[in-house]
Amino acid sequence: MGNLRNVHALRISRNLCSYCGACILACPLKALELDDEHCKPSFHSHICVNCGLCVEVCPTFKEFECVELRAAYAARTLIPEVASRAQDGGFTTSLLIAALEEGTVEAALVVSSSSEIPLLPHPILASSRREVIGAAGSKYAYTPILSLLEEACSCYDAVALVGLPCHLRALRLLSSLLPKYAECVKLAIGLFCYENFTRDALRVVGELIGADLDSIVRVSIRGRWVEVETKARSGRVPLESLEPYTRPVCLACSDYLACLSDVSVGGTGSSQGWSTVLVWSERGMKAIEACLKRGYIELRTLSKESLNRVYRVGRLKRARAERYLRGI
Ligand code: SF4
Ligand code: SF4
Ligand code: SF4
Repeated sequence: MGNLRNVHALRISRNLCSYCGACILACPLKALELDDEHCKPSFHSHICVNCGLCVEVCPTFKEFECVELRAAYAARTLIPEVASRAQDGGFTTSLLIAALEEGTVEAALVVSSSSEIPLLPHPILASSRREVIGAAGSKYAYTPILSLLEEACSCYDAVALVGLPCHLRALRLLSSLLPKYAECVKLAIGLFCYENFTRDALRVVGELIGADLDSIVRVSIRGRWVEVETKARSGRVPLESLEPYTRPVCLACSDYLACLSDVSVGGTGSSQGWSTVLVWSERGMKAIEACLKRGYIELRTLSKESLNRVYRVGRLKRARAERYLRGI
């Protein structure tokens, strides 16, 4: 075997890492550790035995074919406390609440916020309606949610996972390489993702609109703008001002739709207050039916034009990745 640990260290040092947490979970010797400040694993090379597992579970440069889409909807929550907190239509939060109440899952791996700064991401295992609602809303920062899978699978038989396309690719790799860390995931919800950012991006957004970091309560990316709500007012900054805070790993990533999930969700293709929902599996369809039966969501078939808008963004992302990969 070649020097795989160097491959991995290079990937991390060149920012070809989305801080998904899979390698931290997989390393049998704990040679990789969380490092939230730098949004990448810290590597203790003196412990490493060059087994290569970290390279094998890493989603960077790994591609999978999408299965056929089963259904596409526009959805919005009918739960008032979700509507007041959630991003877009609040679909993901409603689906998780229904899955918890149905007993399909016992807990959900979600990204919540740090207690001091509302939008600083903090992955948690949420096992109650209150915790799930507390984690509602997008946090645009690299988050190592998969590092919690060991705890999730040792505490519960069935969990939901809400993740980005790279998290879902890593989950797929884990399910064949280290199934004990993936088999408890009974519902995988994907989020559309064009790019993500380091934690500094949030600070910069605050500076650009003249707001303290801890006063920002919601950030939404809409087209070419980052819309920001603080406790007192709202503002927006051009998305391009955050370019320095995205990573090459996102430029090399061609996966927008999160089609390795059971259900994927995003704002693209739907009007404000609604979520676009793509269903990729029978499991996803059943979760939606249960949510609908409980009266937690309103659902409409997504129009062809709206679905085309989603696919168009997916094609743009793929073309960007091809250009980037040709250039390196
Ligand atoms: S090569 Fe093996 S021991 Fe070394 S960091 Fe990767 S997973 Fe850990
Ligand atoms: S993308 Fe994930 S698996 Fe790859 S190096 Fe980063 S944290 Fe590790
Ligand atoms: S663009 Fe790709 S690598 Fe970057 S955060 Fe999104 S899914 Fe992960």
